[in-house]
Amino acid sequence: MVESLVERVAADLVRSKYAIALTGAGISTESGIPDFRGPNGIWTKNPEAERAAYQTYDKFLRDPKEYWQAVSGGVSFYHDLRQAEPNPGHCAMAEMEKLGILKCVITQNIDGLHRKAGSRRVLEYHGAVNRLRCPSCSSRFEFEEYEMDGADEPLLPLCKKCQTPIKLDVVHFNEPIPSDVARQSLEETWKCDVMLICGTSAVVYPFAQLPRIARQRKVEQEQKAKSGLYFVKEVAAATIVEVNAEPTPLTQEGISDYIIQGKTGDILPQIVAQVKRFSR
Ligand code: NAD
Repeated sequence: MVESLVERVAADLVRSKYAIALTGAGISTESGIPDFRGPNGIWTKNPEAERAAYQTYDKFLRDPKEYWQAVSGGVSFYHDLRQAEPNPGHCAMAEMEKLGILKCVITQNIDGLHRKAGSRRVLEYHGAVNRLRCPSCSSRFEFEEYEMDGADEPLLPLCKKCQTPIKLDVVHFNEPIPSDVARQSLEETWKCDVMLICGTSAVVYPFAQLPRIARQRKVEQEQKAKSGLYFVKEVAAATIVEVNAEPTPLTQEGISDYIIQGKTGDILPQIVAQVKRFSR
């Protein structure tokens, strides 16, 4: 069953003109980074950690020094993310880009592993732990540009352009998505004809809106085609495919056309192998 679905998605990808991928924490669990809401997720096991995460952005706005105290240090989740390495799922994504199949990855992940694996067109929707961002002028800086680790007291980094206290380039709950990334992600969503969604529970908004926009776009265009406003030839409908360990709201609501249930580290390399076979 899974094997035939792998062939189906490979055929969809080979036929596509503009395929994109959306990814979430699930693609990085095989790199040793726990997700939030899977069966072994950080929040599944510790709901208090979820409540605390909702306070982080507010903490930054109220007292940036207290914020840095909370997110700094050798034991923090963010520190662990910087040490992680890509797994076969990330590498398969990078290979599909090299093959000219995948045009862009839009990820919710903040671990930077798609770039580490060699993907070039990556939109990091929720930012990345290895950068800092100024909330005032939106300048971004590499983590290494500031001496953050090793100090006895957490330091308060200031923007090198406008001297405002800056934060991690990580989008916390209740914090707006940086407008450049939000705009580019929408553009990619409108452009794609195949959307491959991997390792996300698809419940975090506005990211979870992207597949819904791609689906709605399809319906709108089909309706227009029926009413004779468009030739059927001009209907560019996106095929939406999930690769996930378990069904999601996208599966249940019929937003995705089909799901391949399993581990991204197993399934994505199989998809690449089939893509290569079909492209010969
Ligand atoms: P989530 O935890 O809500 O859901 C992860 C989904 O992936 C679950 O449905 C789970 O069953 C599935 N999954 C787990 N391991 C898998 C595997 N090996 N193969 C296939 N599926 C697998 O994650 P989310 O939807 O990305 O939302 C969580 C939010 O937390 C995101 O905004 C993200 O920024 C952040 N987050 C990021 C990281 C990271 O950067 N690696 C880790 C945890 C959380």
